[in-house]
Amino acid sequence: MRRKLVAGNWKMNGSLKALEELVGIAEAAAAAPDVDVMIAVPFTLIAPAAALVPTLVIGAEDVHEAETGAHTGCVSAAMVREAGARFTLAGHSERRADQHETSHDAWAKAAAAHRAGLQVILCCGETEAERDAGRAERVVQAQIEKSVPDNASGDWFTLAYEPRWAIGTGRTPTVEEIGSMHAIARAKLRMMIGAEADRVRILYGGSVTGDNAAAILAADDVDGALVGGASLTAAKFVPIIAGA
Ligand code: PEP
Repeated sequence: MRRKLVAGNWKMNGSLKALEELVGIAEAAAAAPDVDVMIAVPFTLIAPAAALVPTLVIGAEDVHEAETGAHTGCVSAAMVREAGARFTLAGHSERRADQHETSHDAWAKAAAAHRAGLQVILCCGETEAERDAGRAERVVQAQIEKSVPDNASGDWFTLAYEPRWAIGTGRTPTVEEIGSMHAIARAKLRMMIGAEADRVRILYGGSVTGDNAAAILAADDVDGALVGGASLTAAKFVPIIAGA
């Protein structure tokens, strides 16, 4: 039995003042013992967020694959862990698009994060052009094949299916389309890591809101949600936790 997970991603948003939102989110998380709640915040907010809401699982949005070294401007998994992060995202589509990260990069980051003791939410998902060309399934399968570490286990690894065209757009696939892609993703995981695949949570991400969360989260093989815009305030995020 996989526990539901609702994870937030603040992207390049937030401030010390905005961290006040986490207080209401932590209260909602405490009132939902059957749901895991996590929030990824910008690097600069990890330590103050972890100090403000120690009961909430705070994470990073990215880490570098190396432990230390000549990588100006980058931050390692050990560094975010020391700051109070307990997980990181890897391979988010905005990093694939903006920083030209590949599935191999996502694999290296996920493996480095695990070595440093972090949980990992690894993102995959097709573009609109790939979906229109009938290639969505193959694209997602290839991303999983190239980015999921061989030793992935439900203890530390979560997959997030996030169709790029649904992120921040207010558009979502149908619940059936989401369930179908999650089944395809799990079948691919089974080919790679065997029965352990059934312990790995697969989240849906892309324009999840309080209005559509309950229907999406009730779909077959959907173990939770990765939420961007609607995770920035307690008013928008708490109803998603309640829908899980
Ligand atoms: C995301 O950032 O992973 C995301 C799904 O964003 P949004 O919920 O805003 O579409």
